Amino acid sequence: MKNKNIFITGGNRGIGKGLVKLLGKDNNVVFSVRDKEKGEKTLRELRDVMVKYVLLDVNEIESISKAKQEIKMNMDYIDILFNNAGILIPEYEVPAFETSEDSILKTFETNTLGPLRIIKFLLELIPKGGRIINVSSGMGQLDDMEGGSLAYRLSKTSLNALTKILSIELDKRGIKINAICPGWVQTDMGGSNATLTVEESVEKIADFALNKEFPNGKFLRHGEILPW
Ligand code: NAP
Repeated sequence: MKNKNIFITGGNRGIGKGLVKLLGKDNNVVFSVRDKEKGEKTLRELRDVMVKYVLLDVNEIESISKAKQEIKMNMDYIDILFNNAGILIPEYEVPAFETSEDSILKTFETNTLGPLRIIKFLLELIPKGGRIINVSSGMGQLDDMEGGSLAYRLSKTSLNALTKILSIELDKRGIKINAICPGWVQTDMGGSNATLTVEESVEKIADFALNKEFPNGKFLRHGEILPW
């Protein structure tokens, strides 16, 4: 599939930037950043692809509303929405009982409520046949749950639940939604010891996103369905 209208949150670095770079070659891509400086810097770095950015913070409804108007100026509709923006707070290594409620709430706000807000606001632009990809994490997988990283794990397990719920509710609109784990990726969040480069990870994500076959209400890594 080519020439799709694609919107990606958190496109100025890491996996989001990798997706913008790869998908921007053959598609109409708009990505979000939190300030103009980051947007301009990303455009300079990705000068080989024709992409646009909008200013958006997933925690600020007014910014999402404004961004929606700007997205509409660049595309009549969205074929594929990537909820990629996310955070992993520095406190992530401490045990559950020592994790502050503030960290849990802040992480939930961005990683779980953020995607919900984006979908709620942009749904009007997503037609029948549209696709939504929530970038989740294996750290949110109940089937493989471990200790530590309480705030992040809770936020991603909840994002997975949100994905499942919306897959049922959006089915009648003909919109499909899945949660994916991008693998362990060399980004600011993943660190330098991660097993995948950004290029390796986004190639697999793009293959999945653009594939003729696209499931609904699943959790996947590299196109393979995972247990929740
Ligand atoms: P990253 O390098 O830390 O980049 C995170 C991106 O999210 C940045 O563009 C950041 O913008 C944006 N962002 C954060 N909070 C935001 C907010 N409130 N509103 C809008 N944008 C916001 O992370 P990454 O490794 O590329 O991760 C991307 C996604 O993959 C995340 O959802 C993450 O949980 C998931 N993931 C990553 C790995 C991994 O190994 N890297 C593994 C599993 C899942 P700023 O530059 O303005 O902060």
